[in-house]
Amino acid sequence: MAEALIGLDLVEMQAAVDGVAGGRVPAYRAKQVYDAVYRQRVTNLSQISTLPKQLRAGLAAGPGLGLPQTVQRFDSADGTRRYLLRLADGRTVETVLMQEADRHTFCISSQVGCPVNCRFCLTALMGLERNLTAGEMVGQVLVVAADNRLPADVGKLNVVMMGQGEPLLNLDNVLKATRLLVDPDGVGLSERRLTLSTSGIIPKIKELGRHSIRPKLAISLNASTEEQRRELMPITRKYHLKDLLDACKAYPLRPWERLTFEYVLLKAVNDTGDDARRVVRLLAHLKCKVNLIALNPGPGIPYETPDAERVASFQAIVRRSIPCFVRKPRGRDIYAACGQLKRMEGSF
Ligand code: SAH
Ligand code: SF4
Repeated sequence: MAEALIGLDLVEMQAAVDGVAGGRVPAYRAKQVYDAVYRQRVTNLSQISTLPKQLRAGLAAGPGLGLPQTVQRFDSADGTRRYLLRLADGRTVETVLMQEADRHTFCISSQVGCPVNCRFCLTALMGLERNLTAGEMVGQVLVVAADNRLPADVGKLNVVMMGQGEPLLNLDNVLKATRLLVDPDGVGLSERRLTLSTSGIIPKIKELGRHSIRPKLAISLNASTEEQRRELMPITRKYHLKDLLDACKAYPLRPWERLTFEYVLLKAVNDTGDDARRVVRLLAHLKCKVNLIALNPGPGIPYETPDAERVASFQAIVRRSIPCFVRKPRGRDIYAACGQLKRMEGSF
């Protein structure tokens, strides 16, 4: 079967349209399809009424649109929605939409499962099933935007690649998805509103920095010493914390950009005043901010959530030197919060 339309760039779209028509089709036709898929966000090819019927039918019978299908939607009391989406091969993946007054944030997955074995993360328990294609990443945004009737010109639309998976282990597809998401003729998001988060795959951080169109970079720090990080994030044995921070120092930030460091607070493990002071020392020379996340608990996770006062005092220490925010837990009641994406079904 030909590749689905979602995920194709304009050149590939032209080839797909030519393929269906059995010969060269004028370029404006491919542009019409591209526009309908990404800008108008059609959910069915029959909605592209500007196309000749035959071509429309050929596209539907051939490559197809390729939107993931919603298996189940979980609505949190705080307005967060978690989607369980089915891909073409029957595998499922999760996407979360967080809504605030004037701001929508899509948390999308980059892989089915994750091969990085962080000890506090539920997704780790799945292992890696496979990488997502660029179309499957863009498709998550399109399907959830359509379900929530978000208009194409909605202003503050953010995408964070912080769902299932380690985006830097699927970099080519992540970059292609990024180009489609920020293309003004495509989905049309602002490049400043796209962020990927990594556990610290150093060579890929360097590679990311060489691309001109790329998401902002967030690093999951999660520890204040080399030893502690090795314990919590075994990938540190391969990519040492010291080298990770060197890569951050050398990272070519755009003028408007700064790094984000995420830090999951685990009760009595990495949440002490000494930890906070060490975090400040580690990051002192970087243009960055810190986001603290109190652990979202889950079955099989051998850690506890620190008390609110501990979180506040950790923040107070870091904030003296570095902008530091506490991330509100969103959608914990429906297993939609950070580190809780493990395809939980049933009702919450
Ligand atoms: N794999 C990437 C992106 C997905 S994880 C990464 O690790 O950065 C997104 C964020 O959720 C990371 O910062 C991670 O440290 C955090 N996280 C993982 N498990 C968590 C949990 N149980 N509670 C709170 N945050 C968690
Ligand atoms: Fe993978 Fe990120 Fe979870 Fe670590 S925290 S296991 S890198 S999804």
